[in-house]
Amino acid sequence: MSCIFCKIANGDIPADIITSDEQVIAFLDINPSAKGHALVVPVTHVEDLTALDDTLVSAVFSTAREVGKALMDTLGCEGFNVIMNNGSAAGQVVFHAHTHVIPRNHDDGVMPKMARAQYADGESAKLATTLAGHLSK
Ligand code: AMP
Ligand code: ZN
Repeated sequence: MSCIFCKIANGDIPADIITSDEQVIAFLDINPSAKGHALVVPVTHVEDLTALDDTLVSAVFSTAREVGKALMDTLGCEGFNVIMNNGSAAGQVVFHAHTHVIPRNHDDGVMPKMARAQYADGESAKLATTLAGHLSK
């Protein structure tokens, strides 16, 4: 298995581990956007969020929440981002699902602000209806 996060989860290569259990491992990103930047990763090799089952979604995001709270408590950061890149177009480089937990402070310059666009009249209602028709629940 050549996957770098599988190797970390299996203990084959080192990482600065924050917490781990049978489902999830959290460790510091090797090239942090800010000091404390952590990754939360399912132990099982799953490519991205679309392939994660509900149990693992819950485990990954509850661990991300706890890591974020620990960053705020220990670093004194004012907030944190939980970001998941799904697909190369979204910036995913390691194709083993993971969430980034990044400590944030006002005006820290860690990330550019999100772009904002506008809908034409009725466009968003139509899109929401289309999307609703494609949900499985
Ligand atoms: P992404 O672009 O969402 O796929 O992010 C992959 C992340 O994995 C990047 O932020 C890398 O810095 C991080 N990364 C890659 N290899 C390692 C490693 N061996 N230990 C810790 N973090 C890593
Ligand atoms: Zn993997």
